[in-house]
Amino acid sequence: MIRLSNIKLPLDHDDQALPHAILSTLGITPEQLISFNMFRRGYDARKKSNIFLIYTLDIEVSAALEAELLITFADDQLIKQTPDLDYHFVAQAPAELTERPIVVGFGPCGLLAGLTLAQMGYNPIILDRGKEVRERTKDTFGFWRQKILNAESNVQFGEGGAGTFSDGKLYSQVKDPKQYSRKVLTEFVASGAPDEIMYVSKPHIGTFKLVSMVEKMRAEIIRLGGEIRFSSRVDDIELEKTGTGKEEHQRITGLTLSTGETLKSNHIAFAIGHSARDTFEMLYNKGIYIEAKPFSIGFRIEHEQSTIDAARFGPNAGNEILGAADYKLVHHCKNGRSVYSFCMCPGGTVVAATSEEHCVVTNGMSQYSRNERNANSAVVVGIDPNDYPGGPLAGIELQRQLEKSAYVLGGSDYDAPAQTVGDFLKGIDSSKKDLDSLGSVQPSFKPGIKLVDLSKALPDFAVAAIREAIPAFNRKIKGFAKDDALLTGVETRTSAPISIKRDETFQSINTQGLYPAGEGAGYAGGIMSAAIDGIKIAEAMALSINEKIAAK
Ligand code: FAD
Repeated sequence: MIRLSNIKLPLDHDDQALPHAILSTLGITPEQLISFNMFRRGYDARKKSNIFLIYTLDIEVSAALEAELLITFADDQLIKQTPDLDYHFVAQAPAELTERPIVVGFGPCGLLAGLTLAQMGYNPIILDRGKEVRERTKDTFGFWRQKILNAESNVQFGEGGAGTFSDGKLYSQVKDPKQYSRKVLTEFVASGAPDEIMYVSKPHIGTFKLVSMVEKMRAEIIRLGGEIRFSSRVDDIELEKTGTGKEEHQRITGLTLSTGETLKSNHIAFAIGHSARDTFEMLYNKGIYIEAKPFSIGFRIEHEQSTIDAARFGPNAGNEILGAADYKLVHHCKNGRSVYSFCMCPGGTVVAATSEEHCVVTNGMSQYSRNERNANSAVVVGIDPNDYPGGPLAGIELQRQLEKSAYVLGGSDYDAPAQTVGDFLKGIDSSKKDLDSLGSVQPSFKPGIKLVDLSKALPDFAVAAIREAIPAFNRKIKGFAKDDALLTGVETRTSAPISIKRDETFQSINTQGLYPAGEGAGYAGGIMSAAIDGIKIAEAMALSINEKIAAK
């Protein structure tokens, strides 16, 4: 096939415009064009009154014509042979498989690791501390409605991982020469995701579709010989020393579950997400090498979606192909800090995302339709270990401290502290105001909010940076700094505050057989990159198992 890139067409083009563009670009006749697929569809909205669509297309013509066209357009960077998009398994389990690899965590990373291992015949055992997704949904929505937190079954923990109740954005900035993201999308579509995620430039799925997809993927792993256990928290690991002197190493040989049961394996992946603070501590106390890493802190901001649509799309706001508008903003502040928007959810809601008691944490989610009244996004300030000296786990302590103080500020009942942008920027204390004082932006956070002086929720440097950034963002998105836009705090779980270092074989740099993976280990940020990391981990585990069997 031939790949044509950068085909630009007006937003309202008709069905015939694409084949016409192909014929005129390649100079071929309608009879010579056998078929074409849309590989990518994006848009350029820099000029609101003249938004156009940008396509990347894969074209099928006869083999002889394809060879001829590739020679004719050899110097044209926008006309190339379509790369191989198929995923190729790197290994197959030998008949005499002597151990089953274990994957701890059934979020996007553990899911794709488990699925890929199962597809290669390794019969993985997958463990998650939380419940299966339907039970977990009841617990999570129960917390949002009734303020009863289950610390093992919530937004962060359980089947599907942290992104299950989310906007389900599937794009990532990771370099992906091996097209792993294509495998992820293909698996998601096979499990019920809409076909369009294969080609739209910013695919998203939304919460309810994710729930049923995760169930289908679980069934497929089991069908292929994998085993998945819920309510199975890993509380301890078993290590043994190998070699002597300079050659001395430690390696993992098994683990202990919260039930007291032990499982043996020399290949164990930890895809535990960024909120498994107790497990990070356990791994650290066992001597697994862990470093502190930068992360970000801030608030969620809410606007009416119509404000964002008008700012981004002008007269084209509401266009069905464009959908609800998103944004991505960054501002470098005078105090040296950077503030940026993060995990923007068009047409969604702000959600309570704690996994620990007496903590308040915000995040965002939406449904596939993205048709809720408000847009929300984190507005966060980057911080690094200089801001939290005190060892590899000090960032976790800072997160916890901010989340606990947000809980108290919000009234110590899981309501979140909040304030209008107008009051926050003017430094007004809103704690005497009631919710009737709010303007057109009504809070979507469940269980509820309490109006406060939100500057008390973050360190001074972060408050100063956000106060400088919001007016700067208003220059890019008109209405961003509107008085009645709403801030809710605190956003602290932007990424893991630690990194569990691994080497080129994907194993911990000081513990053989332990594969730190996904967002919790510092190797992913978001659903897609975590899922990609899961595939890489599965490949590394499979190759190592085969190597060990071959060496016997
Ligand atoms: P996780 O998804 O966190 O999964 C880790 C799993 O490990 C959990 O299921 C947990 O129960 C389990 N676990 C932890 N400790 C143990 C233990 N000791 N024993 C057994 N099991 C354990 N990203 C996007 O790309 N797009 C979005 O739209 C998006 N929206 C989000 C909305 C919300 C509300 C949240 C919370 C996150 C969102 N994210 C989004 C981020 C995304 O969810 C994460 O980046 C992603 O889930 C990380 O995947 P992971 O597999 O590495 O870890």
